[in-house]
Amino acid sequence: MSSSALFPAPPPPPRRRVVQKFGGSSVATTEKLVRVAELVVAKKRAGFDVVVVVSAQGDTTDELLAKAKALSPEPDRRELDMLLTAGERISMALLALAIRERGAEAVSLTGSQSGIITTSSHSQARIIEVRPFRVEDELELGKIVIVAGYQGVSYRREVTTLGRGGSDTTAVALAAALDAEACEIYSDVDGVYSADPRVVSDAHKLVELGYEEMQELATAGAKVLNAAAVEFAKQRGIAIYARKTGSADPGTVIRKHVPTAPSGVRGLAHEAPLVFVDAPRATLASTRATLATLERLGVAPKQVSLAVGSGLSFALSLDDVHNLGTVEREVVALLGPGTWLPDRGAVSLIGEGITKDPRHLLRALEVVPQATALSTSSYRITLIVPAADTRAAVSALHQAFELGRPSTEASLT
Ligand code: ADP
Ligand code: ASP
Ligand code: MG
Repeated sequence: MSSSALFPAPPPPPRRRVVQKFGGSSVATTEKLVRVAELVVAKKRAGFDVVVVVSAQGDTTDELLAKAKALSPEPDRRELDMLLTAGERISMALLALAIRERGAEAVSLTGSQSGIITTSSHSQARIIEVRPFRVEDELELGKIVIVAGYQGVSYRREVTTLGRGGSDTTAVALAAALDAEACEIYSDVDGVYSADPRVVSDAHKLVELGYEEMQELATAGAKVLNAAAVEFAKQRGIAIYARKTGSADPGTVIRKHVPTAPSGVRGLAHEAPLVFVDAPRATLASTRATLATLERLGVAPKQVSLAVGSGLSFALSLDDVHNLGTVEREVVALLGPGTWLPDRGAVSLIGEGITKDPRHLLRALEVVPQATALSTSSYRITLIVPAADTRAAVSALHQAFELGRPSTEASLT
């Protein structure tokens, strides 16, 4: 017996795989696409299998949506999905062309071709499973695979979209299905900050965040990562690296078990405008009818609160609601005039165990006296304010909770 039979050569190490997602601002122009192509080719040449998820260029999704609404104020959601998915298809093909021009092999695939299977709920579908056979085959052939983000296909073979910001979810779902060692989300900001850096100039970058805190920040309006993407990452234990395109900065990593700041307050998120429904005379019966109506109309309420005798209230995000006129009409018919409050905003303080210290609640109300409603969870304090006051409330809270101090970050690392 030869020694090679006794000691067979170890199998070759598995190839290193990464999923890199580039958002709308990173692929907005031909020059930016070329830059992304160069970065992706460099990663491939460094020995990685690379799957790239792209968003629609710049404001393409908003522009397509406006075109649809000019023709049909409450557009059919199936047709809307057919339209909006075109944005990501443009980016994927252009990026594949740019990569091929740089001497590497690339192939672009739609969500459906990539095996992203979703529920059939148009404009806010959820990923059920990923069957990435085609992606695997193309990687095996040595190609860089470009996948159109934000889209999938239902079991009924209908094309669906994953809700605004959904390309992040495509990236995390693919990273899980392909067993990638990293999921990198590239945007125009070099990480997750203590508040939107466009609103608070002294916001500080968070080096690490736990899944729950990031999920709360995203749900409360921090667009930098999509909430469904973070939920997916948490379920599958995928670490997300939020980074800036073309920057050497390591950005923010979102993963399990991160020690929290002593104060419990890690960051702030805001969302405006949104609709706040406040119905002090709602009964259990009208509440049930309202929730059933929202379900039928495909709208999910947030921060629902009911106290029999003193009423029902909830907030509605506007991002993926394309039938707002109908929703308003039906809700007002059930709850009465004056209950539908448009032009509201929400400001949320986020941190693990934030409500354990009641001083946080008191301080928040002191700093934002214009608040008209308050709700809490173990990770969140949310204040509802007039939409026009939202940014000022974010700045005031950021200062009051001393989130701009560099020492806050130092204590976290
Ligand atoms: P992309 O188009 O690449 O997906 P997004 O516009 O969805 O990028 O997300 C990036 C934007 O998120 C930033 O420009 C920033 O203004 C905003 N943002 C909101 N909250 C935060 C936060 N806490 N940290 C960083 N960025 C934030
Ligand atoms: N293009 C979609 C949007 O603008 C999806 C995404 O960018 O993630 O929301
Ligand atoms: Mg985004």
